[in-house]
Amino acid sequence: MPHHLRRLAVISTHTSPLARPGTTKAGGMNVYVAELAKQLAARERIVDIYTRRDSPDLPDVVEIAPGAQVVHVDVGPPTPLPPIEVAAHIDAFTARADQIAHERGWSYELLHSHYWVSGLSGISLAQRWSCPHAATFHTLGEIKNRHYRGAGHPEPALRIAGEDHVASCADLLIPWTAHERDFLIDFYKADPARIRIVPGGVDLERFQPGDRRAARETVRRTMPDLVVDDAPAILFVGRLEPLKGVDLLVEALAQLDPPAGRPPPRLWIVGGDARDEPERARLRAIAAAAGVADRVSMQHAAPHQLLPDLHRAANVCAMPSAYESFGLVAVEAMACGAPVVASRVGGLMTTITDGDNGYLAPERTAAAFAQRLGWVLNSPDGGAAMGRRAAASARRYAWPVAAERMLELYESLIAEPERDPSPCAEAAETLLASAGL
Ligand code: UDP
Repeated sequence: MPHHLRRLAVISTHTSPLARPGTTKAGGMNVYVAELAKQLAARERIVDIYTRRDSPDLPDVVEIAPGAQVVHVDVGPPTPLPPIEVAAHIDAFTARADQIAHERGWSYELLHSHYWVSGLSGISLAQRWSCPHAATFHTLGEIKNRHYRGAGHPEPALRIAGEDHVASCADLLIPWTAHERDFLIDFYKADPARIRIVPGGVDLERFQPGDRRAARETVRRTMPDLVVDDAPAILFVGRLEPLKGVDLLVEALAQLDPPAGRPPPRLWIVGGDARDEPERARLRAIAAAAGVADRVSMQHAAPHQLLPDLHRAANVCAMPSAYESFGLVAVEAMACGAPVVASRVGGLMTTITDGDNGYLAPERTAAAFAQRLGWVLNSPDGGAAMGRRAAASARRYAWPVAAERMLELYESLIAEPERDPSPCAEAAETLLASAGL
């Protein structure tokens, strides 16, 4: 008989589920952590999400749903820090989280860490709390290095070593896709018997197909920086990172032939905040050079609940990323009946079937994207049929389904005999010390 989970500790050191998704480091992982916590709390489990305090005025504990709360851990400066800097505070984080649990009298049957930095803390906390440790990486440094060749900074060696360590010490690894599972086995030498997949989800009650005209009215009101008129619209939603490939999309816009008898398409770019002005300026310059500046409009990251109208208002959603471990935005767009034109990478290969419920560009070039965006925009009937198939296939990614699966995994993990944790504690200290942390 599987054992019952009563209280779960979630470790999400460097990003908080309270952060607005679509800005700097807050994205799919934040949505995943928050949604699953709410789903588990609705199933009468208590969920404490430990995260580093990144702003001085946050209360110690913030409830996100009855039974699910964010617990702020005071280590390092109370400002946002990149993950590698959070790694330098990881021992202090572990000690403080343990102290909080002790002071409040909280005890756990299981802990789930998110991202490799949290995984390092998870290894030590699981030993202190004598509970099993499940780990999800969300992205893997070595995959990034391979996909981002020439496009970004190589991931630090400490990250790869940290991931290696978490992959061998966690009791269960929970990737989002088969692609990530295979990579964990092939590169990180993870034990296949200790890996189970739980894909991301979408709130199917909110993200639904609907009337485009009405949605455009709403978007005009809620996102005043976007130019919303009768022209067809291509939508990008996400963090404004160069690796999301928005520049490629701007160039694709310039290569698109206007649909017969209709105004030339617009590009709506939604994401980022004031900190992303340099990236916005770069995109504006590319648009100006390509002669499409008047057809590109940008809006800061929108609250998650406003996104369904945005997807309904657009004609097609584009995801030209260099890599996506899953790509929640694609599934959210699909759930709203929007065809997605995406790169043939990572999780997008799982959620999109080329030519059926969307398109996977065979190469990451403006020409390949322009061609496929043109196919959707120039054949409104074909685009609508593809959107209907997209909405149907998104139905398999509901948060309650993901949560039930997660709960099942948690409870069978609790029922397993304990593994000997001793080789893992020392290795974490050695790892951090050798990196001078
Ligand atoms: N998001 C949002 N508002 C925005 C932009 C993005 O709520 O303005 C959300 C989006 O709906 C999705 C998440 O941020 O749930 C991004 O996840 P994804 O997996 O697409 O990309 P990641 O940021 O993890 O690379």
